[in-house]
Amino acid sequence: MMVRYLGIFLVGCSTLNKETDPNGTVFESEQGDSHILQVGDTTAASYFLRSDKNELVLIDTGGSDNNPVLAQLAAEGATPEDVQKIFLTHAHGNHIGGIHLFPNAEIYALETERNALLEKEIVLDVGLTNHQILSLGNSELEIIAVPGHSMGNAAYRFDDILIMGDSAIASSSSTIEPILSNSDDPILAHDSLIVLKEDVLSRQIEFAYMLFSHSEPLSGIEALLAYE
Ligand SMILES: [Zn+2]
Repeated sequence: MMVRYLGIFLVGCSTLNKETDPNGTVFESEQGDSHILQVGDTTAASYFLRSDKNELVLIDTGGSDNNPVLAQLAAEGATPEDVQKIFLTHAHGNHIGGIHLFPNAEIYALETERNALLEKEIVLDVGLTNHQILSLGNSELEIIAVPGHSMGNAAYRFDDILIMGDSAIASSSSTIEPILSNSDDPILAHDSLIVLKEDVLSRQIEFAYMLFSHSEPLSGIEALLAYE
């Protein structure tokens, strides 16, 4: 049976002084019918989720050069034309540069990022609203507005995994902080992390991981709960 994927690209805007394998695996988790795989490295990561529906979905596209998703697709016996949906975190080039590689995909992002995407000549097919939830097989994909890094910047919740994108970056001491470089409004980025903290605190979800575009993943969300 052809496996189904939600591939999520988290590619960011900061510079990391770290040697990584662009075709490596940053994170992988399998629970029930769902499978999330982050490929690439922490400058150009991607995620694939499997579910019981025949879907191939990405979150962010990575850049146009040495795109790690292409190798992963080939390894799984799929082609770029098989990608059906791309969910974007925001309109920065290292997150959207590879979008032309997946010609059949519908483009999703927060409606508030539409104009920023248009400036990059990307037309949003579906503008989402904060906390909108989409079903992917038996899994939930929820978009969460975290404005500041860009005004329409988003995180995503895939079941119990919080995909932060460029909403924050983790340090080697497992704390998190907003990404300040190339951010539209760093003060708002900070405030939005506080709002996100209060939001997840109010939920009956035991989060398993937080994933970042430009740092290693963290277990749980303690780092977010400790942010102030
Ligand atoms: Zn960015």
